[in-house]
Amino acid sequence: MDIDQTKIPQATAKRLPLYYRFLEGLQASGKHRVSSSELSEAVKVDSATIRRDFSYFGALGKKGYGYNVNYLLSFFRKTLDQDELTKVTLVGVGNLGTAFLNYNFSKSNNTRIEMAFDVDDSKVGNVIGDVPIYHLDEFKERIANNNVEVVILTVPSHVAQPIADQLVGAGIKGILNFTPARLSVPDDVRVHHIDLSVELQSLIYFLKHYPL
Ligand code: ATP
Repeated sequence: MDIDQTKIPQATAKRLPLYYRFLEGLQASGKHRVSSSELSEAVKVDSATIRRDFSYFGALGKKGYGYNVNYLLSFFRKTLDQDELTKVTLVGVGNLGTAFLNYNFSKSNNTRIEMAFDVDDSKVGNVIGDVPIYHLDEFKERIANNNVEVVILTVPSHVAQPIADQLVGAGIKGILNFTPARLSVPDDVRVHHIDLSVELQSLIYFLKHYPL
């Protein structure tokens, strides 16, 4: 069936990669169906939410059967553009950036870091995990030639905003911000912020105050 993707709520869309990863694992282990309660247990989303999420794209689980894993995966692949290679760049090849270049999503899906940028001359010109590192001055030209719209930002926080301005000026539409800085960007640019220390603090808080 054809799905109007503009009708999928953002909160649902954000959970799709989570479902996708788990279902891929199921398929790899030869499972053909899954119940919403099994899924719920694995991805830690309550089963009512899962049923509602899935109903947006016409996957109605059958009582006593559950959901067809292959059907769900083919839908997710289309929706998440998993069939197309999504090219990503990384800016800031420090410790964290280097770890991402070495990891490079090799096991997950069709996302790949194509190029990295830095201003440190001792890093520019190197290759880490098959990814070439260029000078940030070349950013605009290189991304235009390579059709890249997404950046992973792993620079020191005091330079995050001016660099974000530069990235947006070059045509970037999505920034995965790993710096603690809150970035201001135009309305047509999306920033997802991953502040590792905040995430860790929040986990510790929940463990302390809401023991399972
Ligand atoms: P390292 O020890 O390699 O410096 P780190 O993660 O502790 O790692 P940070 O100070 O957070 O280092 O810097 C991360 C990376 O961002 C470094 O490679 C640094 O050269 C780079 N960087 C700093 N300023 C800029 C900038 N203006 N544009 C692009 N990259 C920058």
